Amino acid sequence: MTWVTDFAAGNKDQKDLLGGKGANLAEMTNLGLPVPPGFTISTEACRAYLAEGGDPEGLQDEIAEQLAALETAMGRRLGDEADPLLVSVRSGAKFSMPGMMETVLNVGLNDASVRGLAARSNDERFAYDSYRRLVQMFGGTVMGVESEHFHDALDALKTERGTEADLDLDADDLRGLVETFKAIIREHTGHDFPQDPRQQLDQAIHAVFNSWNTDRAVLYRRQERIPEDLGTAVNVQAMVFGNGGMTSGSGVAFTRDPASGDQGVYGDYLQNAQGEDVVAGIRNTVSLADFAQVDRKSHDELLAIMATLENHYRDMCDIEFTVEDGKLWMLQTRVGKRTPEAAFRIAIHMVDEGLIDMDEAVRRVTGAQLASLMFPRFDATAERTLLAKGMNASPGAAVGRAVFDWRTAVEWAERGEDVILVRKETSPEDLHGMVVAQGILTSRGGKTSHAAVVARGMGRTCVCGAEALDVDTKSGQFTVRGGVTVREGDVISIDGSTGEVFAGAVPVTPSAVVRHFEGEEVVGDPLVDAVARIVAHADSTRRLMVRTNADTADDAARARRFGAQGIGLCRTEHMFLGDRRQLVEDLIVAEDAAGQTEALAALGPLQRGDFEEILTAMDGLPVTIRLIDPPLHEFLPDITDLSVSLALADTKGHRKKHERKLLDAVQRLHEQNPMLGLRGVRLGIVIPGLFEMQARAILEAAAACVRRGGDPRPEIMVPLVGSVRELDLIRGRIEQVADEVQADLGQEIDYKVGTMIELPRAALTADEIARSAQFFSFGTNDLTQMTWGFSRDDVEAAFFSTYIEHGVFGISPFETLDVEGVGQLVRTAAERGRAANPDLHLGVCGEHGGDPHSIHFFDEVGLDYVSCSPFRVPIARLEAARAHL
Ligand code: PEP
Ligand code: MG
Repeated sequence: MTWVTDFAAGNKDQKDLLGGKGANLAEMTNLGLPVPPGFTISTEACRAYLAEGGDPEGLQDEIAEQLAALETAMGRRLGDEADPLLVSVRSGAKFSMPGMMETVLNVGLNDASVRGLAARSNDERFAYDSYRRLVQMFGGTVMGVESEHFHDALDALKTERGTEADLDLDADDLRGLVETFKAIIREHTGHDFPQDPRQQLDQAIHAVFNSWNTDRAVLYRRQERIPEDLGTAVNVQAMVFGNGGMTSGSGVAFTRDPASGDQGVYGDYLQNAQGEDVVAGIRNTVSLADFAQVDRKSHDELLAIMATLENHYRDMCDIEFTVEDGKLWMLQTRVGKRTPEAAFRIAIHMVDEGLIDMDEAVRRVTGAQLASLMFPRFDATAERTLLAKGMNASPGAAVGRAVFDWRTAVEWAERGEDVILVRKETSPEDLHGMVVAQGILTSRGGKTSHAAVVARGMGRTCVCGAEALDVDTKSGQFTVRGGVTVREGDVISIDGSTGEVFAGAVPVTPSAVVRHFEGEEVVGDPLVDAVARIVAHADSTRRLMVRTNADTADDAARARRFGAQGIGLCRTEHMFLGDRRQLVEDLIVAEDAAGQTEALAALGPLQRGDFEEILTAMDGLPVTIRLIDPPLHEFLPDITDLSVSLALADTKGHRKKHERKLLDAVQRLHEQNPMLGLRGVRLGIVIPGLFEMQARAILEAAAACVRRGGDPRPEIMVPLVGSVRELDLIRGRIEQVADEVQADLGQEIDYKVGTMIELPRAALTADEIARSAQFFSFGTNDLTQMTWGFSRDDVEAAFFSTYIEHGVFGISPFETLDVEGVGQLVRTAAERGRAANPDLHLGVCGEHGGDPHSIHFFDEVGLDYVSCSPFRVPIARLEAARAHL
């Protein structure tokens, strides 16, 4: 087994083994770019270490061998007292997890070699600054000391020296700080900072391995759906120094603007600094244009390398670089994270530049990104009070109460408040708060700061580097230069597209992308153009059709504008609410068949009107109308309210005949487990005339549409079937009604009869059911409920967060289809159904029909369509294509 690979021996396609960072360092090395040499310890080694609780056999030897080769290449030895080689030890998983895992820089420095470094660089201050950074990082990361202790000691020293800038501390200050930091470590861990360089290296490597399992890393993976069992690689690389004076520095750059997608490089540079200073937002950075003023040669070389990388990767890259005494070094590149807006715009720009084709453009964007572009934005015409302007780090319009620490954010969000997390800068510890917040606001740091990168990854609105804000997290408030104070709990609004921060709640307006889908002509908006072109190409590529779940003509019409190719689920029970509830009540309390017939006769024409409107809105496209599904008591008053009102009436001597009958009915229909009770097809069988009334209304509505020259395509769907016998019974009655209607009207009517598959028994006996059905629609909400035995109305709020915490599942199975369990039933039913009836048409109308992940599965099992809420139709169109490509 090879555990360790030299940078020169790998390539960008080995992300599984070398992690993203390692694979890309290898690729850059092989492109001939200036990369400090080093090696990558594989993810396999990490997995073995975590499983065995120690180094796997052979790892130590391989590290020693690679280290020796690195020492030869650099002409220096690790920890050499006269001229030490220093290395960085960095994590690098297959998928980028920014800031979630550990990094240790300057490994190899100790009390002796720091003097060698000082002599070699002729810069004592630099040597001790590097050493104090090592002790600080090693103490925090490897030895587990809270980072605050080091920050406080540094701040105390600066206060003592009467300065706010690290750069004002001299060599003696820093030498003293090293001792202070060492004492902090001793005090908090009972151990000394290790002086043996190889021990430093081994411990740093182990710390990176272990950081795969920190709480924040686990939480981040769940959020981003990154598998738990990948492990991280570790990159050991010769150090180059950005903190050796003003001819050195560190920077981060993007080959295009990661926020807007605009063409043109974008980046931040900080003189006399190491990489983590840039990302942490500790000092304010300068732009690439200003970098050109500082160091033209390095700047020009950087731009040439960025062009090489973008052409090579055919994608926007982000880059970390260091300038060491006027020499440029590349420390990292990867395909860069970007906002949803940038993702669409960059994809289209690259098509137009001939770098990629339209299929690739569709692959480069996601349904989730499109969904976030459909969120509303702030109303530009509304009155607003601008408090400050920061950087537009991650777009969107967020309104919420200001909170100043992640714990409060979580607490308030749990009780239903919208919150904006306000910090000076964020650190990985803040992740919990960032997840629950509507938006994130920081007073320091650029578009590449932790807050910005993480927020963009999560699609969360973020404004960073709003320097006019003086944030005081301890007392829970910020003050704006000029006087206004915002305290914890005050409402603020932040615009992640412009970087503006407003007092109070600013009203929001629909997005331009939605206006486009609504059919409005939105001219001159490059984002809308990009979305339109990509979604149009998706339509020409996908196999799955996309229908909508709609119960009203208005929803149907809107969904049609959004590109729906029919209705996959019209829930008729929604037509029995409001004034019509009374008629359903009459049906339920009717004492005899005559009473029932009368009530049904009153409902019939109303239903016919509903169906005519919907069939008209979807003229020429299939409309699946589901016969009534929920338990009837849902249409009756609450048993307690009714009992109380009757008891009160009794004491006053009032006679309440109707209410008494109603209470009888409520008591008669009361069920312990209504979702498992008299509902769906069972209602149709038990209450004669109910489904017949609905079938008649559908068929008469279709006939009326035809007479008006329309092209109605009704599909009558029977819910909650578990046995083919149930479906046979109802289908027989529907056919009888159809015969009567056609005879009465002297008109032939085209219609289909099919069923939902939402019980495990239906899925398992799908071959039998398919002989009686023209179509199946998977009701994956009930199918999930019935397969897991989870009450869909109760469990999500009750205990899913605990289940997710314990890793039973990463996401609610009601949101994303549980492919291993419920998915097997879908697959089985589709296969058995099709085998028995090759003409069987298959779709899904549960919530999963609009969920990007689930759509990929539905494409794979060969369904004909997905059906989802109108708003998700464009998302499903895009994901259906991505699934198929
Ligand atoms: C389902 O169960 O998936 C479904 C679409 O029906 P409903 O949500 O109305 O029960
Ligand atoms: Mg259902």
